[in-house]
Amino acid sequence: MTTLDENPQDPFGVLALPTATTPVTAAGLKAARRALLAHFGVADAPAERSGEQQRIGNQLDKAYQLVLDNTRWTIYEDHVAIVNDTGTIYRTRPDFCEGPQRLSRGRPTTICPGFARGAVGCYHLLAVEYVRLAQVLDPTPQSPDAATGDTLVEVAQVTLSGRNLLALTGYIHLVDPAHTEDINVVFSEGASIALYRGDYQVTAPASPNAVAVFALVGSEFADLWSAVRPSAKETPTITLTVLRQSATEGVLTMVGGTLDLAVAITLL
Ligand SMILES: [Zn+2]
Repeated sequence: MTTLDENPQDPFGVLALPTATTPVTAAGLKAARRALLAHFGVADAPAERSGEQQRIGNQLDKAYQLVLDNTRWTIYEDHVAIVNDTGTIYRTRPDFCEGPQRLSRGRPTTICPGFARGAVGCYHLLAVEYVRLAQVLDPTPQSPDAATGDTLVEVAQVTLSGRNLLALTGYIHLVDPAHTEDINVVFSEGASIALYRGDYQVTAPASPNAVAVFALVGSEFADLWSAVRPSAKETPTITLTVLRQSATEGVLTMVGGTLDLAVAITLL
């Protein structure tokens, strides 16, 4: 646990602004929240906080509510513009927070009143640190296009009921439960989806919006099957999207209900 007087903009020894080009995700903000609560030794639930945890805890909560609303902050090269709960805009830097001009003991000043009381008095600074940490701690895996510089281009998409998807994949699973054989998949525009494993084939009527032909490695199918099997029956609709990354590499995503996964495919 650390003291309340340290600069909250520097809890991990880095005085830096977030960058305008790095995405800020909900998962990243959650990770930042955990890190800051742990850093300041503050319980997540206000009721569980000791008297001395309450001041910083309140500031951390206020800043977190602010950053969850991405209309209330904008990252610039040399500051973050923060809109506080009364609509006033503050220009916050790693080491300073500035608001509209006001009078302090009869003299005009632009220093944020909270910042003037001490760094932790200014929740704008904490908000900026949430955003910076969210970028650093984001647990979301880098998407293939971010890793390679390629862009993912949508090739085809189809929506199926969970039951139909389960019937298709269940049959193919039974053909080779050890998942050693690869699977070929054919989307026929406006007509059907077919899966082939060895000499076996299963086809279901469906309406893909375009043609797509691709192969799934057996082990990738195993991942997909273990994700689909428990929840598909209760999921009314699942959307399958085929994305092209390079001439032969691609990604198949499955999204619907609690299902949200992506597996690598080879485009044929
Ligand atoms: Zn401030």
